[in-house]
Amino acid sequence: MRTSLLKVVLTVACALPACAATFSVGTATAESGQKTTGYLEVLAGSDPAMNIPVVVVNGTKPGPTLALVSGAHGTEYASIIALEKVIQSVDPAQVSGKLIIVPLVNLGSFEKKVPHVNPTDGKSMNRFYPGNANGTQTERASWLITKEVVEKCDYLIDLHGGDLDESLRPYSYWSKTGNERLDTASRGMVLAFGLDHIIVVTDRPKDPSASRYLDSTASTRGKPAIAVEAGYSGTAEPEDVQKLVEGCYNVMRHLKMLPGAAQTVENPVWVGKVSSVSSPSAGFFYPLVRRGTYVAEGMKIGYVTDYFGKTVWEARAPTSGVVLYICSVPSMKKDDNVANIGPITTEP
Ligand SMILES: [Zn+2]
Repeated sequence: MRTSLLKVVLTVACALPACAATFSVGTATAESGQKTTGYLEVLAGSDPAMNIPVVVVNGTKPGPTLALVSGAHGTEYASIIALEKVIQSVDPAQVSGKLIIVPLVNLGSFEKKVPHVNPTDGKSMNRFYPGNANGTQTERASWLITKEVVEKCDYLIDLHGGDLDESLRPYSYWSKTGNERLDTASRGMVLAFGLDHIIVVTDRPKDPSASRYLDSTASTRGKPAIAVEAGYSGTAEPEDVQKLVEGCYNVMRHLKMLPGAAQTVENPVWVGKVSSVSSPSAGFFYPLVRRGTYVAEGMKIGYVTDYFGKTVWEARAPTSGVVLYICSVPSMKKDDNVANIGPITTEP
């Protein structure tokens, strides 16, 4: 009885001409051929409410829904500016399918210029997925993004970069989940995105209720997803922004959401399990290598002095590989990350 009633309601509702064409995310609603703006309204809880900007692009032809998200870390500027450029330039008349674009998840971080975390609750906005409707602001925002963005998309790209204190060379993450359909689709996306260094990740959560990261929240819900990084140390260099903009457009071509052939990286450098180096001492950090440098295991990559100039620790590469990023500021406290080194691996 309930089923047949539901069927009647659905039939009547979808008989309306606008039904199939309307697409809503948060307060943004777009008819076919429209690009509209709105907000993901995170309600107040134990701490204040926040409104996360969202743009919906509803193409004129059928196709998949791609979500583009940046600014979980609100001072990774190149990735945020890249999505602003996509918002300005994308033409709904050319699009087959739909885009959900969230250019700045972590408004507090952006406004207050606080790296790594949401200053309201001190949490990283890419570590608490799938979120919690009754948690702190980061958890409530993550919960809403899971409902409104992840559950409404077919594919997802999470854009990041080097934060205020990270000198980073561009790279992307490809998660090998073991699910062949997902892995083939996300591999196609990461090659089409075009960054030439690709980290192969094999240890991401498998449990959708404990997905932690945004890309894992998508992939554990059956949606192919990648994460990409470009930009460094508070800059939004045109070269980095352009790489990210081009990557988004190229994935759209790859997914047949835009006309034209997608280019793929011909000879990517595949990177295995990344080694992080952290400092056992507080003081001044002096880097001795630059982002993108290839180092051998044991090589000195920097050192820390105490506040009187005495060297208290030498940072050495725990593995041979590429310096994915290195700390770009002198501020060093105990256990802070100094560098990430990625060992080169064979094609997976
Ligand atoms: Zn980030």
